[in-house]
Amino acid sequence: MKKIILIVIDGLGDDPIPQLKNKTPLEAAKTPNLDFFAKNGICGLVLPWIEKGKLPTSEDTHLAIFGYDPKKSNPGRGVLEVLGIGEKIKKEDVCFRGNFATVDENLIIIDRRAGRIEKTQPLIETLNEIGKGKLIIKRAFGHRVGVILRGKEFSEKVSSNDPKKVGVKVLKIEALNKKAKKTAEFLNSFLDKAHQILENHPENIKRKNEGLLPANYLLLRGAGRLKRVEKFLKKYKIKAGFIAGGTLYKGIGRFLGMEEIKVKRATGLISTNLKGKFLVARKNIKNFDFIFLHIKAADNLAEDGNFLGKKEFIEKIDKEIKILSGLKDTLIVVTGDHSTSSLQKSHSKNPVPILIYPFEGENIKKFSEKECKKGRLGKIKQIQLIKKIIEISRLCQK
Ligand code: ZN
Repeated sequence: MKKIILIVIDGLGDDPIPQLKNKTPLEAAKTPNLDFFAKNGICGLVLPWIEKGKLPTSEDTHLAIFGYDPKKSNPGRGVLEVLGIGEKIKKEDVCFRGNFATVDENLIIIDRRAGRIEKTQPLIETLNEIGKGKLIIKRAFGHRVGVILRGKEFSEKVSSNDPKKVGVKVLKIEALNKKAKKTAEFLNSFLDKAHQILENHPENIKRKNEGLLPANYLLLRGAGRLKRVEKFLKKYKIKAGFIAGGTLYKGIGRFLGMEEIKVKRATGLISTNLKGKFLVARKNIKNFDFIFLHIKAADNLAEDGNFLGKKEFIEKIDKEIKILSGLKDTLIVVTGDHSTSSLQKSHSKNPVPILIYPFEGENIKKFSEKECKKGRLGKIKQIQLIKKIIEISRLCQK
């Protein structure tokens, strides 16, 4: 069996953009290296895992890529984020993802990200004092945090307090069943207290004096409890490592029992160390059978409606991916977790292009949504993808 490097470019697929002569960002991008891989490999389209009536989420689609049924295996975004931060989770812990926000005196949200505050540690320390070990806050990237409720009395069956838009009041946390009543009461009382303390926190007074938005409220969502899933190694008998900058993707790697391969300045942002990620993958593949390499920013750019930025970012990936072209006995797989529409500024249900290189070769012009449709791999359900990749790696017999 050949080794496998699976590169997931988050939100890779897109819609045709009028300003790009009706090409998608991937189609419009100059990608000689990806095109070479596509022409000398096998291509197709992946149908992302989508919960009925919803748009695909990154956590569900990633679980599906690795062959795990999201319905059974997804422990909730909170758990994956807390794992991604690097925290050990106890069995009874209820985890949330959270972020600092700015509200006015009537609890109307002014900014869901508190002016993208970075220095959150002093605020977190104060909140952890009032949480008294029952509510534990851990710093994540920027304005984001992971929140753990620790104690057997707590339930994950509670709603979020985040209305996900500005100009409206924060929501009360509601119990979704009788057993969760105490949890909702505890959280609502904590959040009230936290708001009062944050409002007058020296760090926030300093921010206000500097004309910055105070981080005076905590928004919580994605409540969940750790689930046990069969680890990747046990499920497929292949040793897997992961390279990721974004917290969620580190969390997914850890959740499935993959080993973290660290890369300096890998952040999940546009400025991430792409070259370093590919170099480290190239260097480390000798120690693994499989490396999952995640690249985030394409998704964020599309969500901001920045199709030009997405096109340029894909070109940057293409330039650096060349490092992987000379690797022996290794399959390079490039795909996305779902498509993200730069026009809709949201995830979309469109299929995602995929290439697997090297293989028999394809008679296509370039790596794009349109061309991959003609590929010999055809359309694959996301949940069957990993089996297909492993099958092809066995066919290669090297
Ligand atoms: Zn995604």
